[in-house]
Amino acid sequence: MDEIYDLIILGAGPAGISAAIYASRARMKTLWLEKQFVPGGQIIDTYEVDNYPGMPGMTGMDLGEAMGEHAKKLGIEPTRENVRSIENRGDVKIIHTKKHDYVTKTVIFACGAGHRHLGIPGEEELGGMGVSYCATCDGAFFRDKVTVVVGGGNVAAEDGIFLSRLCKKVYVIHRRHELRAEKILQEQLLACENVSVVWDSVPLEILGESQVTGIKIRNVVTGSEQILEADGVFVAVGIVPNTELVNGIVELDDYGYIVAGEEGITSVPGIFAAGDVRTKTLRQVVTAVSDGANAVTSVQHYLIGR
Ligand code: NAP
Repeated sequence: MDEIYDLIILGAGPAGISAAIYASRARMKTLWLEKQFVPGGQIIDTYEVDNYPGMPGMTGMDLGEAMGEHAKKLGIEPTRENVRSIENRGDVKIIHTKKHDYVTKTVIFACGAGHRHLGIPGEEELGGMGVSYCATCDGAFFRDKVTVVVGGGNVAAEDGIFLSRLCKKVYVIHRRHELRAEKILQEQLLACENVSVVWDSVPLEILGESQVTGIKIRNVVTGSEQILEADGVFVAVGIVPNTELVNGIVELDDYGYIVAGEEGITSVPGIFAAGDVRTKTLRQVVTAVSDGANAVTSVQHYLIGR
């Protein structure tokens, strides 16, 4: 008979790390799987996480590392494996990876979310050649150059602020006349002298042959089109949930998020969701870690009630 785990946690972002910490302290027989080399999930790409209590001004990379170290101290570390599929066999679930078929009574699905793409000409073709989804990772390549950030949320504002410290000029292109970003980030962004926000505008095409040379945009109010010359384009238009593995297994909403409340309970008994993958109003580190803890509590209740 295969070894049967009480719990398999998928994902080592803040939600998965928090779940691992709580599961370890609950002495559950737990396996924790993650495909990336380092823990932290999306925060690894975040220059500064300034709203996580007790950690002012910490870089995303450092916060991810500190969280991973915390779990390690409690005796739990992620195993690096790529999950290929999940099978719901009622009382047990099978997690299929390339090398193993793990059997578990419960799953906490905490696979986070990835970057949304614009879907315009030039975006895929010039990926890595001036088109980037991570200013913290790639910003240094654009020192003293001109860059464009597309988007109006927290990430776009943070990217604009970060790039303003490196680049000669930064354009932030936003499709409306009001930013979605938190007010404090808006203030910081608008105070940057070398940042210009191009309002009410959508990107039409990223230009360049072997390297980005500019971006064609349209003003949605006047209909006028213009080309902004630039060396790099940072796409920061939101996230899409990494829920392909549970598509067709648990209920998803119209946007692909797992339908689950604060307790992480999904439409399938024994499968729980935590972090950015689930339906919620605020996707932040602070809400993700709360989700991980709640999901483990739900797992405990489920196992006792079986
Ligand atoms: P977001 O808040 O969803 O904002 C996406 C932005 O992109 C919006 O301004 C949106 O415009 C625009 N947009 C979407 N699709 C577009 C398209 N096709 N073309 C042009 N513009 C488009 O996403 P985000 O800024 O990436 O942030 C993702 C999540 O991470 C958010 O929940 C955010 O709060 C969170 N976050 C957390 C932390 C932290 O915990 N410290 C740090 C950074 C981000 P509209 O405004 O018109 O919709």
